Amino acid sequence: MTVLAEFSPEEILKLIRFRTDFYLQKHERINLLGYQVKISTLKLQTFKKSLQCQRCLITGNVFRLETNNGENPHLNLYYVRKNEERLMTKDHIIPLAYGGPNKLTNLQTMCGPCNRLKGSKIKPRYFNYEVRRIITMRNLHINYPQYFQNL
Ligand SMILES: [Zn+2]
Repeated sequence: MTVLAEFSPEEILKLIRFRTDFYLQKHERINLLGYQVKISTLKLQTFKKSLQCQRCLITGNVFRLETNNGENPHLNLYYVRKNEERLMTKDHIIPLAYGGPNKLTNLQTMCGPCNRLKGSKIKPRYFNYEVRRIITMRNLHINYPQYFQNL
């Protein structure tokens, strides 16, 4: 991974568009220092909603334009401090495996370590239990994103 440039959140957030259109999410690009960069991805839209990890509450403070072997320059959000650096991720509040939609309403910002911790908590042996719980909550019209925040 090569870092091409760094930007403050303020510089990038104003460029990100909330797009529901699937094609635009996938393909809309802006020119950033001469690179054609995707700007309406669900990941970037999630960061526009909040830069803060919804589990440990650290806040992403640097956007980096990165590339693998010069291919596909893309923006990543990092939390950077003196001795610490974390990649920020988009987390599915209700995991895809449990039928959560791949939509902005089901996405929240989470730092890498918290996302891995959450993932490791949902063990296969709990799968049926989780599925039943989610189906029940949907039927009861409970606001399940809030319910899942503490997973
Ligand atoms: Zn976190």
